[in-house]
Amino acid sequence: MTSKHSYDEQNIFARILRGEIPNDTVTETAHSLAFKDIQPQAPVHVLVIPKGNYVDFEHFAAEASDEEIVDFVRTAGRISAESGVSRGGDGQGFRVIANTGAHGGQEVDHFHLHIIGGCALGRMLPGDKG
Ligand code: AMP
Repeated sequence: MTSKHSYDEQNIFARILRGEIPNDTVTETAHSLAFKDIQPQAPVHVLVIPKGNYVDFEHFAAEASDEEIVDFVRTAGRISAESGVSRGGDGQGFRVIANTGAHGGQEVDHFHLHIIGGCALGRMLPGDKG
């Protein structure tokens, strides 16, 4: 199938998946890898990525198989539970972020979720008066 999404095989997460650079793995499954962010923004900051070559959330949602999507979402859910940030566990909640494209502040063009918690994170956006 042709895709409108163009994937750069040299992005840093592709290199992590190929084992070319190290990572601090939290968990690995058939279709997903979770590892600690190298510049954590909070006490818990884990990145969850699919092993397939998807540029961003939109690409993953449109073209990943059901099996990949289920594996990815379940893995992300398990990370939040095991990181101790779950609401109703010992934690007090967390934030899941999927930066997408230039306006979304995406720096690495391999789809990833940030799971961030372990402290109060404040409002969602700077200037958010919500
Ligand atoms: P984003 O702005 O959503 O694309 O986020 C990319 C994230 O990847 C940033 O939070 C970086 O700190 C993180 N990052 C970049 N290189 C690495 C690496 N080698 N290992 C772990 N995290 C990384």
